[in-house]
Amino acid sequence: MDNDLIVIAGAGGFIGGHLVNYFLEQGHVNIRAVDIKPFDEWYQVSEVAENVVLDLQDRTNCRMAVRGATEVYNLAADMGGMGFIENNKALCMLSVLINTHLLMECKDAGVARYFYASSACVYNADKQTSADVIPLREEDAYPAMPEDGYGWEKLFSERMCRHFREDFGIQTRVARFHNVYGPHGTWDGGREKAPAAVCRKIAAAIDSGDHDIEVWGTGEQTRSFMYIDDCVYGIDRIMHSDIEEPINLGSDELTTINGLVDLVADIAGITVQKQHLLDAPKGVNGRNSDNTRIQELLGWAPQVTLREGMRETFEWVQAEYRKSREASVIS
Ligand code: NAD
Repeated sequence: MDNDLIVIAGAGGFIGGHLVNYFLEQGHVNIRAVDIKPFDEWYQVSEVAENVVLDLQDRTNCRMAVRGATEVYNLAADMGGMGFIENNKALCMLSVLINTHLLMECKDAGVARYFYASSACVYNADKQTSADVIPLREEDAYPAMPEDGYGWEKLFSERMCRHFREDFGIQTRVARFHNVYGPHGTWDGGREKAPAAVCRKIAAAIDSGDHDIEVWGTGEQTRSFMYIDDCVYGIDRIMHSDIEEPINLGSDELTTINGLVDLVADIAGITVQKQHLLDAPKGVNGRNSDNTRIQELLGWAPQVTLREGMRETFEWVQAEYRKSREASVIS
């Protein structure tokens, strides 16, 4: 129902901010957007939604956040790219408090449906040792050996969702995102992920004329990247399906990190020289999404090409980079 209250936790962040706008565009008028950050740090602030600043690790705050809601989307987590999650494992694990307290309060408030944003970081590391990947199927999460810290929290929280559904009847849905990218996300400061970091480095290279680009690791590690429009549409489809088990939500267009750099350089119209930092955090050697199940169950899978999505992303990051350069010159 368009009038039912939708709560989006983590709405000041990248995916949460886009999800608020997506539901508004779909005609939903009753949206509560919640995040721990002060409003001036939200990537997008809707003028229509009820915007609230709350720390959702706290159970009482979760009670306030979900009051009256029909659906709750949990996109809130203390997270970032590999540089952040490899060096902040305890902080990543503390996000378990957000999911736990939200679920407890959703149960008490009679919330009908609950979405949890999981990650490809739940997959067993032994399946990701080679750049020449076999795409990850949902069953590859077990036996469990996920990414330390961040991945363990995601896997545990997935199970918590499962048992709240089985024991208390709340309809939980879980998607395992594979590297989401697009405009209005983190692009500097240490929490940014590879696509935004590459865009920023190329914007800086154009600005400075120095075309040496630092790449973490050999750059031969393989990944797939999902554009944000596919992500929010996929969240909606999964939430309103009868898919009870965690499911991949990711692109299956595979690239190397070196290939990603070359693609963005090509979009920007420059040539670059890559400087490989072999000691920098680089994550697993190879990872791709097996989309057989989502195709089977939804007749759909993410479809925006990397080139299309990176063009939009580069334009946005370059504009942000230029704004911040101008601001630093003025101050
Ligand atoms: P993001 O960091 O941009 O957004 C997360 C938001 O959660 C932030 O705005 C942050 O302030 C908020 N938050 C953190 N702690 C909070 C708290 N205690 N109370 C309230 N809000 C809190 O990250 P994102 O890229 O939008 O990711 C959203 C979700 O998707 C996260 O759960 C993340 O783990 C998951 N995910 C993202 C990706 C990706 O590539 N972006 C991949 C896999 C999984």
